Amino acid sequence: MSPYQHGEVFVTDDGAETDLDLGHYERFLGQNMGRDNNVTAGQVYAAVLAREREGGYLGKTVQVVPHVTDEIKGRILAVARGAEVVIVEVGGTVGDIESLPFLEAVRQLGHEVGEGRICYVHLTLVPYIRAAEELKTKPTQHSVAKLREIGIRPHVLICRTERDIPAAMKAKIALFCDVNAKAVIQEKDVGPSIYSVPLLLQKEGLDLQILKLLRLGVRPARLEGWKRMVAASAALGRPRVTIAVAGKYIELKDAYKSIRAALQHAAVAEGLDLEIQAVDVERKDLAAELGRADGILIPGGFGDRGVEGKIAAASWARKKGVPFFGICLGMQAAVIEFARSVAGLRAAHSTEFNPATPHPVIDMMEEQKKVRQLGGTMRLGGYACLLAPGSRAARAYGSKAVRERHRHRYEVNPRYLPLFAGRGLRVTGVNPETELVEIVEIPAHPWFVAVQFHPEFTSRPVAAHPLFRAFLRASRSKKMGRHTSGS
Ligand code: GLN
Repeated sequence: MSPYQHGEVFVTDDGAETDLDLGHYERFLGQNMGRDNNVTAGQVYAAVLAREREGGYLGKTVQVVPHVTDEIKGRILAVARGAEVVIVEVGGTVGDIESLPFLEAVRQLGHEVGEGRICYVHLTLVPYIRAAEELKTKPTQHSVAKLREIGIRPHVLICRTERDIPAAMKAKIALFCDVNAKAVIQEKDVGPSIYSVPLLLQKEGLDLQILKLLRLGVRPARLEGWKRMVAASAALGRPRVTIAVAGKYIELKDAYKSIRAALQHAAVAEGLDLEIQAVDVERKDLAAELGRADGILIPGGFGDRGVEGKIAAASWARKKGVPFFGICLGMQAAVIEFARSVAGLRAAHSTEFNPATPHPVIDMMEEQKKVRQLGGTMRLGGYACLLAPGSRAARAYGSKAVRERHRHRYEVNPRYLPLFAGRGLRVTGVNPETELVEIVEIPAHPWFVAVQFHPEFTSRPVAAHPLFRAFLRASRSKKMGRHTSGS
């Protein structure tokens, strides 16, 4: 998946690589998603074709209805097991060729489970026409008409809008689209925190409408923690920290979506006002750019381009005592830099970028080469990590063992660890089964922590990730001129 087309690749605990929407679901719901929560047309067709080859359809003609739609319904019902409510998002726009079988499947599902057990929520746009200074309901009317043509009568309309929709206009939408007036919900564009959206929707009564339609009985929503978080994210007078995110897709906001989100969560939790400084590692004036930052984060990545820039950024952070947080390729860059500059291995590299390096300090492990299926040779999903007592990581997490998500092929080469340890780079996190390196630190530096996994995927708005929090605290201290060695 190219970051230019898909934004970041999100990774679930069970090792599925999905697009970034699943990350939003995890952050908003506070629940882990998995492989089964992401249904793509490709998966559905692949399953139907495989089944046909196996004779699963007894030689009958394979058709979109019922075979493809049955496959889709089966997948929805599979995630429904054990749940009270299943939220199904059908992506795309009504009328898309791609989404037709999906819409037909959810239509059939409604027919099968019956009234009171399904609620169709349709998201539409109510554009504001500047020249005429008015909101327009036509697009909403048209998309609802299109949906009804497919056989789905929406119960609730969520209307995205820049301006408040007057009551009379809501009534008009309700009448023309044949929904209850209370079920016309406005979703006005929000300011800085996207996390205020659920609160706005609650104010509009969306939760009540859905509970009623699903006959679930009304219980008050427990949103206190969420409300506190939204209020904290708007608090004035918070001290500012500037964090440089030094990567190569820096112009694409979505490419580092989870990293940005995790930094924001941590800033709110620490009462800080965050400025994210996007630094393109291929810039000539890299040092000058980094000089502005209170902390430097190097995210993950693939491919040759930008690697030397990442190594240079890690070098700057190490030498200048600027708090440094390396993630995945960012960690590998830090290890290469340390090998080259401190451990005297001038030609050290990762075999990903130089297969002929005399010092493969980052290398592919034998067992990884064998995993040819599932995502090529990638180590994917959640793995355990044991933390060294007293390390920065252990103090930040406040625990001895954690579980974090991975997406990479290469590892720190264990052959070099004794040499590195002698020069001041400490391994503070390892996988208990494979003994692969998960975390490295430089204890003599104010805060230099680099991790092979992706902590950004498990950060939540109301449960900021401890490593991001510790990194921001250290960056704040650095700004204040107190070079603490604390966590
Ligand atoms: N390219 C590196 C690897 O495959 C790092 C991957 C990443 O940063 N996600 O090991």
